[in-house]
Amino acid sequence: MTSINELVVLRPDDWHLHLRDGAMLKAVTPYSSAHFGRAIIMPNLLPPIVTSEQALAYRARVIAAVPAGHKFEPLMTLYLTEQTDPDDVETGANSGLIKALKLYPAGATTNSQSGVKDIEKVYCVLERMSEINLPLLVHGEVTDPEVDIFDREAVFIESVLEPLRQRFPALRIVMEHVTTSQGVEYVRSAQSGLGATITTHHLIINRNTMLVGGIRPHYYCLPIAKRETHRLALVEAATSGDNRFFLGTDSAPHLDGAKEAAC
Ligand SMILES: [Zn+2]
Repeated sequence: MTSINELVVLRPDDWHLHLRDGAMLKAVTPYSSAHFGRAIIMPNLLPPIVTSEQALAYRARVIAAVPAGHKFEPLMTLYLTEQTDPDDVETGANSGLIKALKLYPAGATTNSQSGVKDIEKVYCVLERMSEINLPLLVHGEVTDPEVDIFDREAVFIESVLEPLRQRFPALRIVMEHVTTSQGVEYVRSAQSGLGATITTHHLIINRNTMLVGGIRPHYYCLPIAKRETHRLALVEAATSGDNRFFLGTDSAPHLDGAKEAAC
């Protein structure tokens, strides 16, 4: 009997990728396009990609940054704001350009200032997305300063995600970069319509890697790495064969100066 201990995926897809814009876009895109066939492109530029027209222009800039000979298809998303127009979303989705919308709670992560403060203000968009079967990608962390940074995902599930799923049962949702055993359990408990991306970062490191013996800023990213029990839950989910869990690298370049700084 031989057992498989190595699996080579020839051309995987990356279901969560930040390529940024301008010089950064040109610098990092070849690293993704060398390995991945397709990628879900995150819309949190400054200013964010909020309309189909902006997504179309951004898609052209991404394609221009792909080296000749690489076969890479960027899958575009829109940044959900309280001003998002459901008609524009539907038009973009029908044309095949827009594959999903991304929900950032305001202040949750890099360039999320334009995010949603009052979820009820986007109900009309979520309603339309349900009707046209367009997925919602969520950065699943509350931003309430009273909530401990290590608990923000678990609290988000209870206070935002579960009520949202009850209100929009037909809306397909992906919990992006799930980092906790509660997140894994929550996805597993769903009857349908819920999946999660997992990053390699959260499969490999726990919070000790970031904090023991000194603060290592290059391991700091949001959602923040959690304790070892959570990492083990993620590894278990990623290797379980349950196809509701899939890879989103969340490759998200920052300049050294922004990471190696007092804040
Ligand atoms: Zn991300």
